[in-house]
Amino acid sequence: MEEKRYWNEEIETLSRESLEAYQLEQLKQHLDFAYSNAPYYREAFDDAGVKPSDLRHLEDLTRFPFTNKKIERDRQVAYPDLGDMVAVPEREIVFVAASSGSTGVPTLSPFTRRDFEEFQDVQARLFWATGMRPTDRYVHALNFTLFVGGPDVIGAQKLGALCIWAGAIPSDRLLFILKEFKPTTTWTTPSYAWYLGETARKQGIDPARDLAIRRIIVAGEPGGSIPATRRAIEELWDAEVYDFYGLSDIFGANAGMCEAKDGLHVAEDHTLVEVLDPESLEPVAEGEPGELVLTTLRKRARPMIRFRTGDIVKCVRERCSCGRTHARIYIHGRIDDMFIVSGVNVFPSDIEYVVRNIEGLTGEYRIVVYTEQHLTKFDVEVEKERSCSRPDEELAREVSERVKVRSGVRPKNVKILEDGALPRATHKAKRLVDLRKNAQ
Ligand SMILES: [Zn+2]
Repeated sequence: MEEKRYWNEEIETLSRESLEAYQLEQLKQHLDFAYSNAPYYREAFDDAGVKPSDLRHLEDLTRFPFTNKKIERDRQVAYPDLGDMVAVPEREIVFVAASSGSTGVPTLSPFTRRDFEEFQDVQARLFWATGMRPTDRYVHALNFTLFVGGPDVIGAQKLGALCIWAGAIPSDRLLFILKEFKPTTTWTTPSYAWYLGETARKQGIDPARDLAIRRIIVAGEPGGSIPATRRAIEELWDAEVYDFYGLSDIFGANAGMCEAKDGLHVAEDHTLVEVLDPESLEPVAEGEPGELVLTTLRKRARPMIRFRTGDIVKCVRERCSCGRTHARIYIHGRIDDMFIVSGVNVFPSDIEYVVRNIEGLTGEYRIVVYTEQHLTKFDVEVEKERSCSRPDEELAREVSERVKVRSGVRPKNVKILEDGALPRATHKAKRLVDLRKNAQ
């Protein structure tokens, strides 16, 4: 039997015209459903003077109000336990995830049975697009506790892979599984993929030679979309690295790289993509950077209409070389992590891009942002590899020069530290230290 190329060929390769017609039909029903069943949306649409029937074309969505994390949290606190954005009675809800990593009250993300099944079908689709097949062994190394990434293992099972439910376990135990069970695929953060590979080496295990991992899915940090970071992890493991993107507010991963690794395909039959100028909130031109705004098209437990993600992306809608037609996003970083120096927007991912490309550095880095004489300045701290013989001043000059070329501004200082001086992250790395907040 010839192996299928796509998980769902019909949906994934729909012409743009047919895809948008499908989206429009779904969106009309979805807005109507939200307005009729979720008190929040009735109030918000009424306040904005719009009705679901005002949507005749996809572009009409711009007339509808935004949602964001703050609204989601406020409504949950005001209307316990799940908030009034929920559109179904509790007896229809079968699963609840909580937001990861954010401060304050965790936001809960409810799913009906159908939502959950469709969520897992999308996970299977994204896994399939990385080349994963039923012959693969998959070790799921994401946290299961209230985390929306936990159930993604069910998507891998749906695909037919042999699935090992490891969860977030200590590195030694995970390495034991990698040695004994020889899984071919895993999923983690880029920082942890790097950390785990380095840990293996310290124990005398060469991840490229002694382990069977040939595919690493990463999410949660921009690293998976930074070519040099991806390459470094790929070389360490002799594996292919694929970046996935998702939010618990929508569902787990709703975008992922295909084998072409040219952007992340968004599951556009489930989520509508807008890319807006974060200041004017007007759409940017195709391929220009802007804030990613997502709208669910089918999620019934809690519809999410025009959710401002706080992530800066570029989006292209032309057909990919893999044949899929769903839009691809290129992730640049979070607006929250961006800082402004001399009127220039700087993202930690710009610094990472530079640091990972310089011979003689370990790739670890930290950015310290501070105020000096009322002006924002930043220092970059990097580590020199033990084997590197280049003088510190020369390395520092190269970092400074390349950061200037990449981001448009020069760091005030570049500090060259010893190998191992910076903390290693085991989950999401904290590489930006902002001293301005403490000073205010
Ligand atoms: Zn593709």
